[in-house]
Amino acid sequence: MSENSSIEWTDATWNPVRGCTKVSPGCKHCYAETFAERFRGTPGHPFEQGFDLRIVPDKLEEPLRWKKPRKIFVNSMSDLFQDGVPDDFIGDVVDVMLTACQHTYQVLTKRSERMRDMLNSTLCRGAKASHIWWGVSSEDRKYGLPRIAHLQQADVAVRFVSIDPLLEDLGGLDLSGIHWVIVGGESGAKARPFDLDWGRRVILEARRQKVACFVKQLGRRPVENGLPLRLASSKGGDWDEWPGDIRLREFPRVQADVAGRRRNVEVEG
Ligand code: SF4
Repeated sequence: MSENSSIEWTDATWNPVRGCTKVSPGCKHCYAETFAERFRGTPGHPFEQGFDLRIVPDKLEEPLRWKKPRKIFVNSMSDLFQDGVPDDFIGDVVDVMLTACQHTYQVLTKRSERMRDMLNSTLCRGAKASHIWWGVSSEDRKYGLPRIAHLQQADVAVRFVSIDPLLEDLGGLDLSGIHWVIVGGESGAKARPFDLDWGRRVILEARRQKVACFVKQLGRRPVENGLPLRLASSKGGDWDEWPGDIRLREFPRVQADVAGRRRNVEVEG
């Protein structure tokens, strides 16, 4: 577990699964792959096997030992619902999250159909817990929008969508049943452009549909009025450089009852 994550919308990361395979354009410049492959062949390193899929049972119980409540991004270096991760192991991950309920978990996937199907059946014990937020990545219309629909079909307490990197205008987003949206542009040397108006459209829809919205970063190639927007920050992460109308970093405020089940979700500015 990494106690201090540099990811703006979380506090820590927990990776009981390592490695992944690419499924859509949002994966093209996967930071996890770039990082993992740097250590392929390094004896004893967690990523000795590069970005190959590995189940890591030794990591399962880490959140149980971490007493201070944290927001934890589950599998920041992988995708819990990819083929090759056994149903039983995913169940074990859910059981740890249910036991170490002092934390808030952010589970993000691009394998939205498997997540939906499991949450509506064998994983239903974790679906309604307010401290487990279930999310999908949605980078474009073709691959991303169907994932949002799959998430909306999952009978869960808290849903979120990560629109990062946003690769095109998503149009009039249907955010019904969604509690939190993250949006941002791509970072890294080969980053694709991020038109700020695409982001503004997401913010507008979130506002209109009363969904908490978190602008993560403008990325390496932000575009404003058709022209590159020059920023000192290489990943566009310095809020002070942003146009005022997109400075927005909200979290959903989830109220739980004593059983840990969601009863109300509001926007926290
Ligand atoms: S699903 Fe996520 S972790 Fe897996 S390759 Fe794509 S971006 Fe990387």
